[in-house]
Amino acid sequence: MRRGRRPKWMLKIAEERINILFEMADEEFAQHPERSNRYVQMARNIAKKYNIKMPALWKRRFCKECKSFLKPGENCRVRLSNSCVTIRCLECGNTIIIPYVNEQKYRRRMKIEHTSQEGTDE
Ligand SMILES: [Zn+2]
Repeated sequence: MRRGRRPKWMLKIAEERINILFEMADEEFAQHPERSNRYVQMARNIAKKYNIKMPALWKRRFCKECKSFLKPGENCRVRLSNSCVTIRCLECGNTIIIPYVNEQKYRRRMKIEHTSQEGTDE
């Protein structure tokens, strides 16, 4: 089996599966948080196997330290500071800081690098 060469349709299916897993994790979290964590693990495995990025929508929905699924208001705290989104995982205490790029900066970056195209956040 060849590695690293997968048809586009296969990557698309893999990405869809990641989305579905996170949606299921979100739904199950209230009653079965341990299942949610399992879904996150499965989604991460798919991303790794197919060498694809986590969808922007879900990237901040799990803890990189303890791999827990994070649900704002349940097991994580989301804070907006000046130019950052701070997410604190209440499972392990890890803090994730995501720089918040304002539109001006974003436009400037788009001029510089046309290569990476990430989906817009919610
Ligand atoms: Zn954590």
